[in-house]
Amino acid sequence: MKGLYFDGEKAVYREDLPKPVCREGESLIRILMAAVCNTDREVLKGYRPDFRGVMGHEFVGVVEESEDETLIGKRVVGELNAGCGHCLYCRTGREKHCPDRKVIGMEGKDGCFAEYMTLQTHLIHRVPEELPTEKAIFTEPLAAAFEITSQVHISPDTKVAVLGDGRLSLMITQVLSLTGTDLTVIGKHPEKMEKFRSFAKTGTEQTVTEADETFEIIVDATGAEAGLQLAKRLIRRQGTIILKSTYAGTANVDMSYFVVNEITIKGSRCGPFEPALRMLAQNRISLPEIELFDLKEHEKAFAYRGFKAGFRL
Ligand SMILES: [Zn+2]
Ligand SMILES: [Zn+2]
Repeated sequence: MKGLYFDGEKAVYREDLPKPVCREGESLIRILMAAVCNTDREVLKGYRPDFRGVMGHEFVGVVEESEDETLIGKRVVGELNAGCGHCLYCRTGREKHCPDRKVIGMEGKDGCFAEYMTLQTHLIHRVPEELPTEKAIFTEPLAAAFEITSQVHISPDTKVAVLGDGRLSLMITQVLSLTGTDLTVIGKHPEKMEKFRSFAKTGTEQTVTEADETFEIIVDATGAEAGLQLAKRLIRRQGTIILKSTYAGTANVDMSYFVVNEITIKGSRCGPFEPALRMLAQNRISLPEIELFDLKEHEKAFAYRGFKAGFRL
């Protein structure tokens, strides 16, 4: 089987990978399309030092083998985190926090940058017929955007900022804009900011600082440590900072500032797939096209600076 294997240092294109075999409760998925996430790039930089295996966690595929016959031959997407099934977290609906979880393409489980992948059947979601594969591929990052609205109440008169002008920011911005709130996106790249204009006000660190603006809720989706530093400067006292960035390395911040000003810091990771699939199927999320590469061209795909890179399998 062809696939992209992380050997602890780099991604290696291989054609000799064994086709995965389903374990109990798993389905076999033939991958149609996979997408590169910033997290994959962080894996290459050492974000998951113990991981060895097939990379990737964003995919659309077709189920070939499953105990659930209704899934066979159907296009599907899937969640990343497979829990142990019996710990405190798994028993209380928090499988993604299971301490023994396997995470596809990141921890103890091969990912989707390959012709086939196995996944726990209960993590699989069917793609609605009318939703094309090129759009369904955005389900996982869009679900991560919906996690914010399931964690924090955003009332329509709250002043909210999203930091970052990348893919995840664009999805978060569209999800938060549905609340009708006063929303500002703070980015760096004028050409990228164009895409945000129909959903939010846009600005740069400089324009926002000059205007002396502060925010009640700030979502950091910069993917870098600098995001937290900027959020700290722009957050109102007793405000809430939602952290979406995961990166290799640590942030160096003065935590006392958060104590004294009673700032809430909330981590936010994977979110619910069904709302994301509904919104995509209803065509209510506007996204630029994904640029597709061959697995062999992985270096180009990882270096791609446009909206979203992926692999056609
Ligand atoms: Zn992702
Ligand atoms: Zn568990």
